[in-house]
Amino acid sequence: MNKILEEVGPSDTIAITGHERPDGDCIGACMGLYLYLLKALPDASVDLYLEKPAPAFANVPRIDEIKTACDADLCYDVCIVVDSAADRIGGARKYFDTAKKTINIDHHISNASGCGKINYINPKASSASELVYELMDEDRIDVQTARMIYMGIAHDTGVFSYSNTTPHTMEIAAKLISYGFDFSGLLNETLYEKTYLQTQILGRALLESFRFLDGKCIVSIMDQKTMNFYQAGPKDLEGIVSQLRTIKGVECAIFLYQTGQQEYKASLRSNKKVDVAAVASYFGGGGHVRAAGCTMRGTCYDCINNLALHIEKQLKETEKQ
Ligand code: 5GP
Ligand code: MN
Repeated sequence: MNKILEEVGPSDTIAITGHERPDGDCIGACMGLYLYLLKALPDASVDLYLEKPAPAFANVPRIDEIKTACDADLCYDVCIVVDSAADRIGGARKYFDTAKKTINIDHHISNASGCGKINYINPKASSASELVYELMDEDRIDVQTARMIYMGIAHDTGVFSYSNTTPHTMEIAAKLISYGFDFSGLLNETLYEKTYLQTQILGRALLESFRFLDGKCIVSIMDQKTMNFYQAGPKDLEGIVSQLRTIKGVECAIFLYQTGQQEYKASLRSNKKVDVAAVASYFGGGGHVRAAGCTMRGTCYDCINNLALHIEKQLKETEKQ
């Protein structure tokens, strides 16, 4: 794919969107691209559609320019889907379906072929933000764009600690911090800081977790009743599964939270041996080798048993090698 400014026209109408329940990478990549295009193409009309970001992002500059409703029946010249395939973009799907040109920028292995007419997909990239950066002309990047791209990369790499971090990732990050924004404060606010409620729920989820498969697998379940008790939503549950993954001896961590009668959202994380993207894809979800998710039907025990079968099979295969 050419640089993004070669793919969109100077006075095009452009829609940008990303996945449901947008995380730091999705927000950073979409916002970074949005601010970049607005500045580079003053005659274009650019709209960014995302679900409302978690409160941790509330103070990010210009975050309130995100459109959370997709009521207008518009037909865009270009629709750019970032950090996702078209099946997880919610109400913005209609803009993707009617756009004259579609572009997909993603790093999910479960979306290896891309959903756009033009695709920029690299499952080895640390983040969608890294890919968006590669499509920009360096001399057009300003501090606002740099801040958003940095935020996205830092979120999806666990602040440069996960195995998806490459020398190239670090080189980009080095260039970005040279723009001179408060990266430490940005990460504190959007990533590290938790509300008291989030911390209480994390504590509860850890207390109620249990291990199986000789301690190689750990699971915690949050039912609707408990979420109601704490008045918690999905945005308050982020970070629980990552914490479970850090426990000594654990190869695979599962966090399930109830989304309906006999329906659970599963978040999966792995250390070295389990390809959780393969497990999640089997159940209709997707993601990365070390972090993936899916929505499952049945009781929570059905969900765990079904996931455990696939995880155990993979563990046995790697132990044979
Ligand atoms: P999380 O567990 O944090 O919700 O998601 C982990 C990773 O898997 C993220 O990259 C996310 O985009 C992806 N993911 C989570 N749930 C789904 C799903 O239902 N379908 C697909 N395709 N990807 C998912
Ligand atoms: Mn991502």
